[in-house]
Amino acid sequence: MTIAGAPVGAEQFAEVLNPSTGEVVGLAPQATDAQLDQAVAAAAEAFASWRLVDDATRSQACNAMVGVLSEHAGELAELLSREQGKPMQGIGAEFELQGCIGWTGYTAAQTLPVKVLEDSDERRVELHREPVGVVGSITPWNWPLMIAIWHIVPAIRTGNTVVIKPSPFTPLSTLRMVALLNTALPPGVLNVVSGGDALGARLSQHPDIAKIVFTGSIPTGKKVMASAADTLKTLTLELGGNDPAIILPDADPEQIAEGLYWGALINSGQTCGAIKRLYVHDDIYDRVCDALVAFNEHIPMGDGLAEGSLLGPLQNERQYQKVIELVEDAKAHGARILCGGEAADGPGYFYPVTFVADIEDGTRLVDEEQFGPVLPIIRYTDVNDAVASANGTEFGLDASVWGQDAEQTAAIASQLEAGTVFINKHADIAPHVPFGGIKCSGIGVEFGEEGLEAYTRIKIINAAA
Ligand code: NAD
Repeated sequence: MTIAGAPVGAEQFAEVLNPSTGEVVGLAPQATDAQLDQAVAAAAEAFASWRLVDDATRSQACNAMVGVLSEHAGELAELLSREQGKPMQGIGAEFELQGCIGWTGYTAAQTLPVKVLEDSDERRVELHREPVGVVGSITPWNWPLMIAIWHIVPAIRTGNTVVIKPSPFTPLSTLRMVALLNTALPPGVLNVVSGGDALGARLSQHPDIAKIVFTGSIPTGKKVMASAADTLKTLTLELGGNDPAIILPDADPEQIAEGLYWGALINSGQTCGAIKRLYVHDDIYDRVCDALVAFNEHIPMGDGLAEGSLLGPLQNERQYQKVIELVEDAKAHGARILCGGEAADGPGYFYPVTFVADIEDGTRLVDEEQFGPVLPIIRYTDVNDAVASANGTEFGLDASVWGQDAEQTAAIASQLEAGTVFINKHADIAPHVPFGGIKCSGIGVEFGEEGLEAYTRIKIINAAA
């Protein structure tokens, strides 16, 4: 772990497994409560000076982080692939590191200038953005480094200090990345502790933390929100999704197959903002099914480190069992398996790409977040029914609509209840575009000016003229 700029060991360690092979990748330290307190104290001490550092110097520090990430991208990508399972190539570990570098560089260049709200004969009113204090960051196991960067960099850029706790399934790459990033930062600005879920709970209750940024499941997000209430922490919650995609009858199945495929299968489906339910008009239902199955034939799944793999395994046993359970439940309800549908023999948590046809709302695979390489394809005849189905859940992360008539796609987009609605694509995120869920998919946004502002509080200076 890294606390106050120095490496810190532990008395207890937990094994981290490679989901492609079941082999031990390394041992993760298990922080004690006292070590968490030390990390928060180090961040609080560093905040006293970091908050006063001028904007240009903080921007330079973020640019120095870009240098560190670029220099060590290969090493970090390999460690990430080994503990997370994702392939090095494709939309995998190297892509994730490039995302880390791109987001850090973009954030380095962002600013939140003072806004003059009034400058009159009576008064001058200015709106300033100030850092909130120590930020606690809690991350999941699907995009461990990218999400860590999304939490860490805007916090540091705006003058906060950070204690991050990675997922117990994928802590090693974050521990290493934070150690490396510390070479570009004053001691205590960025600290990392690792441990189990209970450590996350302690972090989200900690009285000396001003804000929690949490990315993970809806049930855990609710717990974080409840435990942050005592100390009135501000929150950014990026939670689960069950993104619907609606395919209109004038869409061209062969042309959209690739976009739909990666929209759903990115990171083997273990992506919050992946397509998780596909609503296809009856006129082109069979052609869409066929096009997806045909596209899949050219996509190799395998060990993350193996040359040529484009899809990896499920990340952990719990997720693997959940995916098996959801597919078995769909079969029991009469759904038709177009490809895949049976877990591969070990080693590793490999589950083949599985497209499931003739399935309805009300089955678990449609209603729940499967978070795996399995996509239910639901037939509709009246687009109003598809829109009602798309909106009829607690989720509201992204949605997409696919078709050739721009007026019609825009009209459907305006009816969909989601933080982002894509047209003729899915899962296209960028550092200048705010991203976040509505309903139970989250509170607040990341990225863009609004995402940066979320790490600040407003101070008004109201002066008599
Ligand atoms: P999870 O909620 O199980 O765990 C996330 C993190 O929370 C881990 O670090 C875990 O140790 C910690 N944690 C567990 N219990 C806690 C508690 N009581 N208090 C505080 N922290 C606690 O989620 P996961 O299984 O790691 O990740 C998958 C989920 O994350 C999916 O639902 C996915 O949709 C969601 N996700 C959302 C986004 C987004 O941006 N909206 C991005 C990625 C993943």
